Amino acid sequence: MTETLLIRGAKLDGGGAADLVVQDGVISESGISLSRAGATVIDADGLIALPGLVDLHTHLREPGYEASETVLSGSRAAAAGGYTAVFAMPNTSPVADTAGVVEQELALGEAAGFVTVQPIGAVTVGQKGERLAELGAMADSRARVRVFSDDGFCVWDPLIMRRALEYVKAFDGVIAQHAQDPRLTEGAQMNEGAVSAELGLAGWPAVAEESIIARDVLLAEHVGSRLHVCHLSTAGSVEIIRWAKRRGVNVTAEVTPHHLLLTDELARGYDAHFKVNPPLRREEDVRAVREGLADGTIDIVATDHAPHPAEAKACEWQAAANGMVGLESAVHVVQLAMVDTGMLTWSDVARVMSRTPARIGRLAGHGTPLTAGEPASLTLYDPAASRTFSKADLHGRSVNSPYLGRELPGEVRWTLRDGIATVADGRLLDAPGARA
Ligand SMILES: [Zn+2]
Repeated sequence: MTETLLIRGAKLDGGGAADLVVQDGVISESGISLSRAGATVIDADGLIALPGLVDLHTHLREPGYEASETVLSGSRAAAAGGYTAVFAMPNTSPVADTAGVVEQELALGEAAGFVTVQPIGAVTVGQKGERLAELGAMADSRARVRVFSDDGFCVWDPLIMRRALEYVKAFDGVIAQHAQDPRLTEGAQMNEGAVSAELGLAGWPAVAEESIIARDVLLAEHVGSRLHVCHLSTAGSVEIIRWAKRRGVNVTAEVTPHHLLLTDELARGYDAHFKVNPPLRREEDVRAVREGLADGTIDIVATDHAPHPAEAKACEWQAAANGMVGLESAVHVVQLAMVDTGMLTWSDVARVMSRTPARIGRLAGHGTPLTAGEPASLTLYDPAASRTFSKADLHGRSVNSPYLGRELPGEVRWTLRDGIATVADGRLLDAPGARA
């Protein structure tokens, strides 16, 4: 039996304040002025209780690139950011394209213990885009894979994309597409537009994303399957998804925190921390993805947490790797871009950062209501706090955050996963439940 907790006065999903009793991994009671003899009391006055955050798009780098991140270090970063589950992208070495590799990933996550690590399987063998990976075997494995993606690479061949969409219907799976036409983005360094022209850097045009999304929503409609669009970044992409949803296509879409906040103007400083794929776009694109998230066209926020060693960023722009770490900053950036601007409520945040990602990924036990009988996987968040984001806020192996030195609102005070604290009183624990 584990410690019994009495959480006093948390605003559930940002609404009315209530007390929660947490016992044996579940919320055993919810109400006003509860008491429980022997319970450890957490004073949550002023704190918002959110269902534990769920990231549908995390790169954990293990096996194969452990210098950048491991399942354990990435799990710790996730817990620090208020997450209780992450979906791990398959671009490891070996690629997670077999039942054996996804089961290994699952076991590493269980051993780390900080968050649920749900493997994503590759769509094609080796993410090479040539033939389908063993999707059924991964779905039937102990890892119960439901999300498949070649993220980093677009499933470009329309026939392979069609076959993948058809195949995953048998087990209610979804194809998460990294929408990037490879031919239109050869050598691309940043968003194609006025800034790239001025800087003389090869551009990554919006049409390279939008043309693939347009094709894929039509393919998903044609075969009656489920499509998820990763890290949508342009105003045109929002329009296409809006059109597809009106038409009844079974499509969901994600946006990253950085595409909600940062623009291609940042490339002017040649600081490679702002180099990412898809690239940072224009001010009008930022406005469009914010509006898309606010009106439900975009379903979720996902981090695309992409750790890279220092040498991959401390170099000239053209030689630098694409990607940013994002697990520890995500909810704070969402507060800054969406909540503090009045575009989302905290209840919306619970939806776009926990409930809907869990539902898209068919992940049980996460994104559940904060009511009696449900798993005690939740985050207690202080929206009134603020700090200068620094390397001390990062707990993974890499520090390639675009927010270092920037003022970010909010603080994760507690993260509980199945009733076990991973963050307590604002401090990431050395091991889950390891409180003095
Ligand atoms: Zn991607």
